[in-house]
Amino acid sequence: MKHNHIAGRWVAGGGGIDNVNPSDTTDIVGSYAVADGGMVAEAAQAARAAFPAWARSTPQQRADILDAVGSELLARREELGTLLSREEGKILADGIAEVVRAAQVFKFFAGEALRIPGEKVASTRPGVEVDILREPVGVIGIVTPWNFPMAIPAWKIAPALAYGNCVVFKPAELVPGSAWALAEIIARAGVPAGVFNLVMGPGSLIGDALVDGVDAVTFTGSVATGRRVAQRAVGRMIRCQLEMGGKNPMVVLDDADLDIAVDAAVNGSFFQTGQRCTASSRLVVTEGIHDRFVAAVTERLERLAVGHALKPGTEIGPVVDSRQLEQDLAYIAIAEQEGARRRCGGQRLTRETPGFYLSPCLFTETTNAMRINREEVFGPVASVIRVRDYDEALSVANDTPFGLSSGICTSSLKHATHFRANSAAGLVMVNLPTAGLDFHVPFGGRKGSSHGPREQGRYAVEFYTSVKTAYVRAG
Ligand code: NAD
Repeated sequence: MKHNHIAGRWVAGGGGIDNVNPSDTTDIVGSYAVADGGMVAEAAQAARAAFPAWARSTPQQRADILDAVGSELLARREELGTLLSREEGKILADGIAEVVRAAQVFKFFAGEALRIPGEKVASTRPGVEVDILREPVGVIGIVTPWNFPMAIPAWKIAPALAYGNCVVFKPAELVPGSAWALAEIIARAGVPAGVFNLVMGPGSLIGDALVDGVDAVTFTGSVATGRRVAQRAVGRMIRCQLEMGGKNPMVVLDDADLDIAVDAAVNGSFFQTGQRCTASSRLVVTEGIHDRFVAAVTERLERLAVGHALKPGTEIGPVVDSRQLEQDLAYIAIAEQEGARRRCGGQRLTRETPGFYLSPCLFTETTNAMRINREEVFGPVASVIRVRDYDEALSVANDTPFGLSSGICTSSLKHATHFRANSAAGLVMVNLPTAGLDFHVPFGGRKGSSHGPREQGRYAVEFYTSVKTAYVRAG
């Protein structure tokens, strides 16, 4: 059994959970200890005790550790990518790419540790100097979802450590394998005991204890859990950052390049089994291109190879678990009851190994008021909303409680520019899928998708540091 990491030691839990391969439910990936509330509190205390010394560590020391983590991830990309795909179900190429992404993030923040910004501003008073300094916040609680088991932990842990914070990391209970492998690398990379702690287990059991023990919490997951985390964090008056769901629109205008639009839709809506917060689940298509677009997307979806994540040639892996599969099937049934037309897919598939296989599902004749277009499904399911023109497309695109990503496919500079300026989302894509991002620029959404400062790139400094304004009498 793989243990929790608390105060520099590997510690057994009160119990364990087995991690099941969604491509083959007879394959147990591993067995992982489950922490209880007391152990989480212990991890937070260890982090608190380690904080003063870590906050005074040199940027070079922190940069070297983060760089070493990045190098080991890169060197082990095939092995760890295989583990990731085996436990989460994304295809091997995507599993490996995600490990590489995690490595890039660690290396990026190794550089940022050497570039911690500050500012000198002239005082309004004579003989006074003013410096604006950035200091670490303290102990950061990190809560992550299952769909990017390496990349999301990386883009939270790396900046937390780079800016001199200590960490208590709680990964999603469905994907402890990737989290444990990452924690083991960090633990060996030279962080002093207590600076980095791993506690595994269901959020319903240990989430509250985590929020109660830390100075700030960064969360990625569903809206319902995010709201709960935020309420508890506000109760303690600690800072909190939330990245949550999406119902991301991709607009396709009559003047779009059909091939680009179809590629963007198939990739953005269905790759990684549609289990991306940035997936384009609403395809908002103008009348003149609607039928050609639907025919071409349907034809591509019917050819996509759905199967075991590790099997060569697979393009779409399984859904992550039985609960998510039930949710996907329930939304498919709801859409049909609401009058949407199922163009293709939406059926459970059997393969050589028992797994949670679902054929990519496209709905047409949907309206933006239907539940299928209001609520996040988080599976290989997308719907087409037919609109008259660009103005209606923009209004439908923005008519959602979410605001994570959005996209437009068009050859019109005028409409692309207008959409970029008027889309109510944190990410806007022109002639690109709504999912698929760079690691060195800010990431995050608006409205119900996000709360707090942006993640990633140099903008991560906002959440992971606390500003101090220092006045000095000169001379
Ligand atoms: P989830 O909300 O069920 O779980 C997320 C994490 O919260 C898990 O680690 C879980 O154990 C923990 N948790 C559960 N209850 C808790 C509590 N009371 N206190 C503290 N932590 C608790 O989400 P999920 O099913 O793992 O992930 C899917 C969701 O994540 C989707 O809604 C998706 O859109 C979202 N997501 C968002 C982004 C983004 O950056 N915006 C990225 C990836 C996934």
